[in-house]
Amino acid sequence: MTVTPPPLRNDCFALPQGVSWTPVEEALALLRDRLAPVTGVETLPLAEALGRVLAQEAVARRSNPPQPNSAVDGYGFAGARDAGPHVLPLVAGRAAAGVPYADVVPEGHAIRILTGAALPEGADTVILEEDVRIDGRQVAFHGPLKRGANARAAGEDVMAGEVILPAGRVLTPADLALASATGLAKLAVRKPLRVAVISTGDELVEPGAVAGLGQIYDANRPMLLALMQQFGFQVLDMGRIADHRESLRQALDEAAARADVILTSGGASAGDEDHVSALLRAAGAMQEWRIALKPGRPLALGMWSGTPVFGLPGNPVAALVCTLIFARPAMGLMAGAGWSEPLGFEVPAAFSKNKKPGRREYLRARLRAGQAEVFKSEGSGRISGLSWAEGLVELPDQAAEIRPGDVVYPLCQLWHGVNEPE
Ligand code: AMP
Ligand code: MG
Repeated sequence: MTVTPPPLRNDCFALPQGVSWTPVEEALALLRDRLAPVTGVETLPLAEALGRVLAQEAVARRSNPPQPNSAVDGYGFAGARDAGPHVLPLVAGRAAAGVPYADVVPEGHAIRILTGAALPEGADTVILEEDVRIDGRQVAFHGPLKRGANARAAGEDVMAGEVILPAGRVLTPADLALASATGLAKLAVRKPLRVAVISTGDELVEPGAVAGLGQIYDANRPMLLALMQQFGFQVLDMGRIADHRESLRQALDEAAARADVILTSGGASAGDEDHVSALLRAAGAMQEWRIALKPGRPLALGMWSGTPVFGLPGNPVAALVCTLIFARPAMGLMAGAGWSEPLGFEVPAAFSKNKKPGRREYLRARLRAGQAEVFKSEGSGRISGLSWAEGLVELPDQAAEIRPGDVVYPLCQLWHGVNEPE
């Protein structure tokens, strides 16, 4: 019997007829609905809290500023001053930051005062030292000056008892400043989400090893481990696993025991060597996620011994897009930080593209001269394009004809701003 090849189909890249593909938004809504925080809580000193997720709202113990103080170096006194010249006798002594003046400034008198000094009783207004003349006993200046000029009111920034940071906040350096200024030394934060990363495929070899014919270096694992670290998660490197069901089962067992989430790449479709999807399906906890997304198919989502598994596609570009669009917001939710989608903004396109309807598309992009440029190839194995890109342009589910200068849908930043040495 002779085997004849099937005729090539014109629509071999078209979406299957009569099969329903889940739109990206629906898939995201489902994840958002079903996932919840899984991480425990601990109390950490401020110096160790950067990047952690705040477990409960932080409340100011102290107002900022705690008492009225001077915003400048100058001379303090009570009340507003009309237009015209003023001459006030100076009291002996001064008020400096951390060294307050203990006495009352009598009505009609002024006191030497430095930036950050608490305003002594009897002073609520400060004139800048550049705007006065002094002879050692008196200070002379011109009005007008409003009451409270150059002074900071107690609590004008934060009042004691106010909520300064909400639960779920990922702590920034400035948040730590705010917590410290308002009298907090420790914060209740969530333990980092533990993410296990597994690469699958017989073809993969470790960076640095000798690669034989048909073998490729594992590109996804270094990328995904680094990405998880950037997100503030605790990474567990579970290594490379061959396309062998028992080995993969063992790796998943170990990962499920040690991590809160498992990220695998490769082996997620329905082929002979697609053991991730096969195992998840056999475990009875696999969702058939046929998401209308490019690049990104296939994506296998399932539970392994109670631990969510994101079975990412093997192609590095698809693996990254699926991580950013699906896994990242989902993991944010599990980490206690809430659902955090990438921040996008609209910009004019520097490219042309005719996009077919039916699925959402993400193009590797970067912003230059205020316009979105896209990588020259859309091939989902092109790792150089991932490295070139600084963001993704999102094209809508429906058809789109894009010409240079048209405003394109959100461009979201991948990891940093412009990264192009001269
Ligand atoms: P798969 O999803 O396993 O069918 O893999 C799809 C494509 O991605 C194949 O060309 C694989 O060789 C490639 N691939 C899978 N895993 C990796 C990886 N960790 N690094 C680089 N390429 C990979
Ligand atoms: Mg494979």
